[in-house]
Amino acid sequence: MDYLSIIEKSYRYTENLKDRGLLATYIPELANVDPTKFGVHLITVDGDKYGLGDHQVKFSIQSISKVLSLTLAYRILGEKIWKRLDVEPSGTKFDSLILLETFQGIPRNPFVNSGALVICDILISHLDNAHDEFLDFVRDISDLPDLKYSDHIADSEKSMGYRNVAMCNFIKSFGNIENEPEDVLDFYFDVCSLEMSCEQLARTFGFFANGGCKISDGKRVIPKSQTKRINALMLTCGFYDESGEFAFKVGLPGKSGVGGGIVAVYPNNYSVAVWSPGLNPKGNSYMGMKFLEELTTHSELSIF
Ligand code: GLU
Repeated sequence: MDYLSIIEKSYRYTENLKDRGLLATYIPELANVDPTKFGVHLITVDGDKYGLGDHQVKFSIQSISKVLSLTLAYRILGEKIWKRLDVEPSGTKFDSLILLETFQGIPRNPFVNSGALVICDILISHLDNAHDEFLDFVRDISDLPDLKYSDHIADSEKSMGYRNVAMCNFIKSFGNIENEPEDVLDFYFDVCSLEMSCEQLARTFGFFANGGCKISDGKRVIPKSQTKRINALMLTCGFYDESGEFAFKVGLPGKSGVGGGIVAVYPNNYSVAVWSPGLNPKGNSYMGMKFLEELTTHSELSIF
């Protein structure tokens, strides 16, 4: 497969689109990002890499890190984890409180904010120091030993995080948060504050394309069966209430974040990350969606 020419073709097409979407502004720090940034990076399971544009510029990965916190919690708890949250698409906004009332504090899936808050609660309950141990976990899978939480992004989100505060307290009222909401929220904001470039992000998610093992050194992160299940969740719940559209147009498991990043994996083949900060009305990177649609169209490769 000539990935380089496919990526170039898809990149050029997307770059020429007039529309670029709108920056997320509800987290003040995200409103300061240069909206013209656009980068892509693909790594194959054989370790070949292809990058274009701003693929080495770091950006706020936001909700993409929810996949990584789920991975660590699932590794610790195994199937018991599904007593605390469900595996269904929500069909509502990522920060909606509506279904929590309907389902008595059980979040629909681990990628909506409520689900990610429950995952943070699980990690706090099961680890001596969730902040440090989660960071060590991500450092290991990303091969980024110096990775840090971004204090300015976490503080910025915290300054306006009223919905998440309400949500965490609401879940606690149903008994599905064990720790103090303030501690869970502090950890949640840190988890969302991680910054990576497309190159680093594609590498970090490589194990989802590689049966649960890191591409760089073959080290197993999670069992094959958990890899399959998290990939299934990314396919069905990874794109807010546009997950159906992403499966329809792109046909790969993936996860987006309000920082304008998207990572997607083609199992047994590659992991790809794209970043363009402008979002479409559903909160997914406008150009990122278009680029990935072009990529799977031109390569004629998707899971379907
Ligand atoms: N930290 C963001 C929030 O809680 C994450 C949103 C996202 O990327 O989906 O609103």
